[in-house]
Amino acid sequence: MQVEEALAYLNGARQAGRLAQGYVIEGPLRGEATQLARGLLSLLFCGEDDVPCGACRACRQVSERTHPDILWLEPQKKSRQISVDQIRDLQSRIYQTSFGGGWKAGVIVGADRMNPSAANAFLKVLEEPPGESMFLLLTEAPQFLLPTIFSRCQRLAVGADAVQLPEAWRDQLVELLVGCGDGYIEGSRIVAVERNSARLQALLKEVMQVATDHEKETADEESVDESRDTLDARIGARYRELRASILRALMGWYRDIFLLLCGGDPSLVYFADQLDVLTARANALSYREALANVATVEAMNRKLEQNLPEPLVLTDAFHQLR
Ligand SMILES: [Zn+2]
Repeated sequence: MQVEEALAYLNGARQAGRLAQGYVIEGPLRGEATQLARGLLSLLFCGEDDVPCGACRACRQVSERTHPDILWLEPQKKSRQISVDQIRDLQSRIYQTSFGGGWKAGVIVGADRMNPSAANAFLKVLEEPPGESMFLLLTEAPQFLLPTIFSRCQRLAVGADAVQLPEAWRDQLVELLVGCGDGYIEGSRIVAVERNSARLQALLKEVMQVATDHEKETADEESVDESRDTLDARIGARYRELRASILRALMGWYRDIFLLLCGGDPSLVYFADQLDVLTARANALSYREALANVATVEAMNRKLEQNLPEPLVLTDAFHQLR
């Protein structure tokens, strides 16, 4: 969904008095997710008749993050986590009377970075939210949010998933996926499976390198005596975040094939530049096989989140993919 579409939908809900008290906003934190959060907050807080005007004091305070009735939470720099103390602070402030006499809002940027005790504390707030309060949970990795939090929030996804992937990684992934079919034609399925798994592992190795370099660089600026454990935890978190973007794109590929097979609108595919290949694949598969592929990638994601050994999980998935 585009940000404008989502905002039009939310404005309709506002006018009908049917806004939810919690929204999980999935999308790039430095892009669409934050844009949508700002837009929604302007809808709530703008003082003009034709909201959001974008120019009044409240609208300016929203975009500058200085509005007294909005609390923004971000992961702590060192741990890259949102702590229970931050949630307690949010909790005490959300129950205070609002400055403007209206809404109060809490925005959690990178909500998947809540550690377990923070997530549980937040769940308590969501279970008994004060009236005229709203919580926005911004995330690029919704799979790391507690299901109990999800069930109390409405979910909005903005921005095209595949676009988030850096060009070089996207190219490698496309090359791999396009090649997936060739291997089967060659006849030697085992060889093809091993090759595809190895290719994806090589890509993930690159991803790990990027995560490591990035976290080491930022570590130097902040503190020299950061413990090895904290650094490892940050590298691990960053890696999983980046890996999730690869896996979302991988999922996009099999969803595209399934969509085309079901007669869906070709303008809706993620890999628009690969429409010919996708259409050929869709034509070669049965409905059941295409659906099984989507389920296989979903299962693969779950296993990786459970920290099962990557090479094993990937090879197993490629064995099943058709
Ligand atoms: Zn305004």
